[in-house]
Amino acid sequence: MNKFTPLILLLLFSTITSTAQYNNEFGSTEECYEKTFTVVAWVLTDTTNSIAPLTENQVRLAIDNVNSKFSGICVDFNLCEFNELPNHRQDTILKGTHDEEIAALYRKKNVINLYFAKEIINEDPDPGPCGYAPMGSTNIPSDTNKRDAIFLKKSCFSDVVLAHELGHYFGLYHTFETDANGIESPTGDDCATTGDLVCDTQADPNGSNDVNCHLDPQDADPVSGLYYEPPVCNIMSYYTPDCEQYFTRGQLDRMLMIMKTGRSYLW
Ligand SMILES: [Zn+2]
Repeated sequence: MNKFTPLILLLLFSTITSTAQYNNEFGSTEECYEKTFTVVAWVLTDTTNSIAPLTENQVRLAIDNVNSKFSGICVDFNLCEFNELPNHRQDTILKGTHDEEIAALYRKKNVINLYFAKEIINEDPDPGPCGYAPMGSTNIPSDTNKRDAIFLKKSCFSDVVLAHELGHYFGLYHTFETDANGIESPTGDDCATTGDLVCDTQADPNGSNDVNCHLDPQDADPVSGLYYEPPVCNIMSYYTPDCEQYFTRGQLDRMLMIMKTGRSYLW
C-alpha cells in the first residue's frame, strides 16, 4: 500500500457515498412542501392594438391550472400583481438583448417575474419559442436582473407552457435532453445520469408526433434495438397530445429538491 492509497480509498468512498445519497433521496419522498410562490406579471401591450390583449383573468386561470399540476408536492403559485406596460418597441423580444432591458426596468426581487410579449426571437435550435426561463439548479444563482425572469409569448400562452417554463426554472430538463447529460437508453439503465436525470420519465428520442399517446412512427434505439416509448403526455416533452399533460413524481421531487436549495431565496 503506497502512501496515496488511503487518500484514493477515501475519495472512492466519498464518491460512492454521495452517489448513493443522491439516489436514495431522489424520487423517493412523499413530501408536502406547503409553499406558495409569489408571481408578478408584466404584460407588454401592443399599443397599436393589432392583437387582442392578454387579460389578468387569462393569467389567473392558467396559474390555477398550473397549481393543480404542482399539487403533488403541495406547492402553488399566487399572482400578486398584474402590470400592463404600453411599450410597442419591446413587445418583440430579442433574447439576450430586450429581455435584459425589460428585466432591468421592471422587476420584483425574490419573486417569479413573468414577462409577456408578442414575439420572442431566439437563436437556433428553436427560433420562435413560446417561452424561456432561467434553468434552476441546486446552487443559488447570483442576483442578476434575469435570475427570476420567465419570458412568454402571448399568442401561445397556456397553462402547459407556463408549467413547462416553471419546470425549467425549478431545474427540469426536457424529456429528450441529450446535450447536458448525454443520451438516455430506452432500457432505463442509465436514467439517473443521462437524459433528463429523472427515472420515471422514459427515454425520449425528441419526437413531436404522437398518435393515441404513442410515438408515431415508431423509433428504435440503434444501440439496444429497443423501441422508444416516450412520455408523450409529459409537460417537459415537445409532443402535443390529446391527453392531460402532467409532471411525474420524479420530476416533482427533482423540482422540490431545487426549490429547497437553488431557489430557496424565493418568497
Ligand atoms: Zn423547454
